[in-house]
This record gives sequence, structure tokens and C-alpha cells, in this order.
Amino acid sequence: SLKSSKHGIFLPHLVASMEQVEETYIMVKPDGVQRGLAGEIISRFEKKGFKLTGLKLFQCPKELAEEHYKDLSSKSFFPNLIEYITSGPVICMAWEGVGVVASARKLIGSTNPLQAEPGTIRGDLAVHTGRNVVHGSDSPENGKREIALWFKEGEICQWTSAQGPWLRE
Ligand code: ADP
Repeated sequence: SLKSSKHGIFLPHLVASMEQVEETYIMVKPDGVQRGLAGEIISRFEKKGFKLTGLKLFQCPKELAEEHYKDLSSKSFFPNLIEYITSGPVICMAWEGVGVVASARKLIGSTNPLQAEPGTIRGDLAVHTGRNVVHGSDSPENGKREIALWFKEGEICQWTSAQGPWLRE
């Protein structure tokens, strides 16, 4: 990256790389897997133009669910949330791209699916906050934290997409 460049020369064809590439943790929750919506949900991020760097089907242990949602531990719905997230396999994903964190949150829609805009994943596919089919990190910092939490070293794959020049000027 230019940040780590020793030369300090800013070449025009590299300027796009100055925009911060972020990573976000996206998860198809157990209801999404059970309802057969995994492909549809993965597809939304794939078609948008973000890059998949990690993917697995995974039965989440209670301790991991509690760590992931630790900021919500004082909420009355916390025990139900942990039961929900551990109730069946989830699909864990890491996605990469410029602006991916905020954009993924927009694609996902509001926490309450009844308030989520049509066209969003929750707006199109869900009806209840307690079964809202998908998770997305709420900040770049949490994106990094959550990917480190859900994936082991070696499960994240760095690759160059052939679509690059067709997605960004
Ligand atoms: P988001 O997933 O949209 O970032 P939050 O971080 O506020 O939303 O909450 C995390 C998850 O906890 C939600 O996606 C939802 O599954 C669950 N949740 C949040 N609020 C409630 C609630 N009032 N009742 C039941 N479950 C809730």
C-alpha cells in the first residue's frame, strides 16, 4: 500500500488504493440458514462488488456468542439472543472493500425488520427483531475484532479479484 511505501511517490494509478480498505464480519444467523436464505444473503454482498475473504458453516459455542455480543450483556433480551445464535449453524463471512462496513449495514437494513426498508435483506426477508437473519459489524474496529473472534488464522484468504478494474475507476 502507499502508506507503507518507502518512496513517497504518489502515482495516479495507485490513488484509489489510498481509500481505506475495510473488512466486516457478516453472519447468516441460524434462522437464515434454516430458512434456506444463505445463498440469497451471500449473493447480495457478492453482487454488490465486495470481496469475500472468509466463509464457513459453523455451530457457535455459547461462550463465543457471549463474547461477540458482550456489549449487550445487560439487556433483557441477552439470554434469548445467545440461545438464538447458538440454536443451529451459522454462516460466518469476512468481506473486504472500500466502505464495506457502512455499506453492508445499509444492505442489511434496520435491526427491526418491520422498519427495514424494502430492498434491504431484513426488509425483504424477515419480520421480527429476534429473528432478523443476518449480522453485520457496526464499525471498522468491530469488523476486525469480530473477524479475529470467529475465524482462526489460515481461514482468511487474501486474493486478487479479476473484477477489480471493472468495479472501481
Ligand atoms: P444490529 O444487529 O442491527 O447491529 P444490535 O447490535 O442492536 O442490532 O443488536 C444485536 C442483535 O440483538 C440484533 O440483531 C437482534 O438479533 C438482537 N436484538 C436487538 N434488540 C433486540 C430486542 N429488543 N429484542 C430481541 N432481540 C434483539
